[in-house]
Amino acid sequence: MHDTICAISTPIGEAGIGIVRISGGESLKIAKRIFRSKNKLTSHRLIYGKIIDPDSNCIIDEALLCYMKAPKTYTREDVVEINLHSGFAVLSEVLSLVLKEGARLAEPGEFTKRAFLKGRIDLVQAEAVEKIISSKTTLAREISTQQLQGELSLKIRKIRENLLSILSLIEASLDFEEELDRERLFKDIFSIKKELKGFLEGYRTGKFLSNSCIGVIIGRPNVGKSSILNALIGTDRAIVTPIPGTTRDLVSEVINIKGIPLKITDTAGLCDAIDLIEKEGIKRAYKAIENADIVIYVLDGTGIITKDDIAIFEKIKNKSIIFTVNKSDLPKRIDIEVLKKYKKPIVFVSAKRKEVSLLLDEIEKALFSSYDEAHIITSIRHKEAMERSLEHLDRAISSKEDEVVSIELRDSIDAISEILGENITNEDILDRIFSTFCVGK
Ligand code: GDP
Repeated sequence: MHDTICAISTPIGEAGIGIVRISGGESLKIAKRIFRSKNKLTSHRLIYGKIIDPDSNCIIDEALLCYMKAPKTYTREDVVEINLHSGFAVLSEVLSLVLKEGARLAEPGEFTKRAFLKGRIDLVQAEAVEKIISSKTTLAREISTQQLQGELSLKIRKIRENLLSILSLIEASLDFEEELDRERLFKDIFSIKKELKGFLEGYRTGKFLSNSCIGVIIGRPNVGKSSILNALIGTDRAIVTPIPGTTRDLVSEVINIKGIPLKITDTAGLCDAIDLIEKEGIKRAYKAIENADIVIYVLDGTGIITKDDIAIFEKIKNKSIIFTVNKSDLPKRIDIEVLKKYKKPIVFVSAKRKEVSLLLDEIEKALFSSYDEAHIITSIRHKEAMERSLEHLDRAISSKEDEVVSIELRDSIDAISEILGENITNEDILDRIFSTFCVGK
């Protein structure tokens, strides 16, 4: 039996309403001690009344209280939610009262953890709750909502079921020495592998949805990096100046590319700098490139491609680069032949005229290259478990002995079950997952 937990479930600050939430066996008893109303506390009904300090009989606030009797609740325990006026004093005083009456402060995500431990939702759904809360765009929210509704869990269960039926055939053949139709079984394993690979591909876009994608704008001084960032965000946040080398710091903005948050950074110009501050900026620019998912390499269309540029291309050619030739409103001088060998997209833009739609198109292509709504995962935990499952399947396929095939299949199934949270016995893993949640959820 779990103890009773409580937390403030809304952000701390002045607002119309703030909620104190309680879950556990003592919830109703605590509510009865601190809540006075003319009406009876009926389950799943919002009741108007007052929160009273039972020791002093002082009224703390008017409240709407909802008592929800187990098991039809979020945690499958008795839950009480108290709607108060949202002010720091009100919420913390009511929380203190609840604590004094015997509840303890909830850990981050502990309400959801209880929902999981009581079997109301699986781990994939529990994680979706946090993802819905942290969604920055509608697309990210939509994918998380589908996940909470159990759509991803269903697909994962199906993979596990298919693996289990393959395993049962192999085990039957081991037990009864029946002839095994290896070819047929391996064909089935191949199709499961394909499904898993589809999810791993989907993670490329999925991780952008949950963590945002990192883009950097680089190029030599004065090619128009800040202007491009401005054109992209449509504001004047970055300092635009005709003096080379004035973007000494990194300026970041988040733009929404069809539902993917793209955090885009304007870096210092890359050149052989004498100035110390500038050197520091360049060091940071390289660091930013290292961490970037997309590199927007800006060139001045009225200039030439220098040895410095080529040296940088060579250094970063494994990255996802978009060669962006700026100042297309002016007569062109640049020869882009040398760029072609890198097999990266090349676009012509004019930051000055705010004509950057070709660049936006390429960014979109890069972000959505692996997008397949049926195979989208947004969690690194799911990705790693699927990778492990795949490795075991590969080993199963390459093995000549049925015993080994059976062991590898079992391990592969275990990795899949782990995604759903069904065979996680290690509390640390659960704690790590739920610690990323907010308190009160
Ligand atoms: P950065 O040093 O690479 O960040 O370059 P800036 O954005 O500060 O721009 C350098 C200079 O080029 C400024 O005078 C801008 O007004 C100018 N510039 C930027 N983009 C364009 C463009 O598309 N066309 C023209 N004609 N000038 C531009």
